[in-house]
Amino acid sequence: MALPSISFHFLSVIPMGVDGCHLKGKYGGVLLAAVGIDANNGIVPLALCVCEIENTETWGWFMEHLHNYLDDGRLVTFISDRQKGLVNTIANTWPTAYHRACTRHVYANFSKLFASAQLKQLFWRAAKSGNKHDFNEAMAGIKAEKEAAYQWLEKELLGYNWSMHTYDRNCMVDRTHNNASECFNSWILAYRDRPCLTMLEEIRCRLMKRFTKRRNEAATWKSPLTPKVLKHLDKKSTIAQKMIVQASGDLNFQVMDKAYYPARRFMVMLECRKCDCGYWEIAGLPCAHAMAAMGYARHEVQEYVPMWFSKQAYLSTYSLMFNPIPDQCTWEPTGRPLIDPPIVQRKIERPKKCITYNKSATECFRAENEEEKIGANFPFFIYCALLVKFDTHSQHVSQASASRSSASGQPATSSQPATASSQALRSSQPAISSQPATSSQPATASSQALRKRKQIRSGPGETSEARTKKRKAGSSGGHAGTSG
Ligand SMILES: [Zn+2]
Repeated sequence: MALPSISFHFLSVIPMGVDGCHLKGKYGGVLLAAVGIDANNGIVPLALCVCEIENTETWGWFMEHLHNYLDDGRLVTFISDRQKGLVNTIANTWPTAYHRACTRHVYANFSKLFASAQLKQLFWRAAKSGNKHDFNEAMAGIKAEKEAAYQWLEKELLGYNWSMHTYDRNCMVDRTHNNASECFNSWILAYRDRPCLTMLEEIRCRLMKRFTKRRNEAATWKSPLTPKVLKHLDKKSTIAQKMIVQASGDLNFQVMDKAYYPARRFMVMLECRKCDCGYWEIAGLPCAHAMAAMGYARHEVQEYVPMWFSKQAYLSTYSLMFNPIPDQCTWEPTGRPLIDPPIVQRKIERPKKCITYNKSATECFRAENEEEKIGANFPFFIYCALLVKFDTHSQHVSQASASRSSASGQPATSSQPATASSQALRSSQPAISSQPATSSQPATASSQALRKRKQIRSGPGETSEARTKKRKAGSSGGHAGTSG
């Protein structure tokens, strides 16, 4: 689905973040999206596509159609997470396009192998270096700190543009990350569990409102530049006040920056719109050194701001509106066959570990970790071959009590009732037990065994009232201990 903003009338190079996000509906799938940057540094979706999975074939199909829409001679700069299938696709579809690697994703992989505060600082210094000198200095620091980290960066990022000094000079976006795509994915989060057509329709409606709102807001701006650009210039202007400027003619200057230690000198050429630090060429907006030189020469800063950052460019991006669509009930039938939903393949799930089938039917089920399962809500009943209902929860309790008592050195009397019950269940004859009362009545033997287990748990000769009082006393004592 190509969106109206794909026109981007005033941009010669389109900065574009590409990413895919998984859908959470019944049929799954992946939403591929291309997201651009407007003149106010905001995100603007360019094209969407729903596919089954994210691979070379689907990215290839998406990129091919995107290329057909943008085939007007303009260059494209991609920012991506280097997904599988996407890197080769971009190289094949857009041989002339620039491709930046998202530094946040690069650092996420880097930090898993080399977690260090010093390396983190050096990595970001290298990633945000606008000139080769600063980049080499940061990389030398990484090499001195950890040779393996340096080797990893050299090998893993070979051929990728991950440092600012390698960025193309025409894009005029200084973003080192693919946050535009991340923002868009979170922006549509509420729709990702809907059916495909419903999701696309809701995204379209939301974009329609967003485009109208942005265009109306921009109409009230009084400055010819967008608000984010004005904010950037104010910030740089404040920093520029602390710099010392020396003129070399009317348009060339050397600026001493005291923010460095020792103070560092930069060469500014206003006519070429260049500064030694490299930021002006990459971002398209003047750096603090250039702002200091402009202030010294009493030049208007707005004269040096490209038109891509103007209110006019912003309005142009949002000039083409989404056309309203009539209700579905009024649509004329096309006569074409209906498209069936995709076949849902049930995922293979891992078998549950908490219950396993044991050797004999009489022993039936058994929890792997009895100590944990007894405390949980895990009562279930088992019917053995004799059709005698047997409460395994009580059995587990008694077995666990037995194991605990044996571990603590107490006599293992608690295992006797369980053994009696097991024998009663295992045999078709009356239960073989040393207790005379159980030999003639199996069911009675089981009930007596259960009763005995309860007595053992609570202590011999202890009634239910006594147990309740004991429990209350215990709980009150615990509270008192806690409060004390
Ligand atoms: Zn500079």
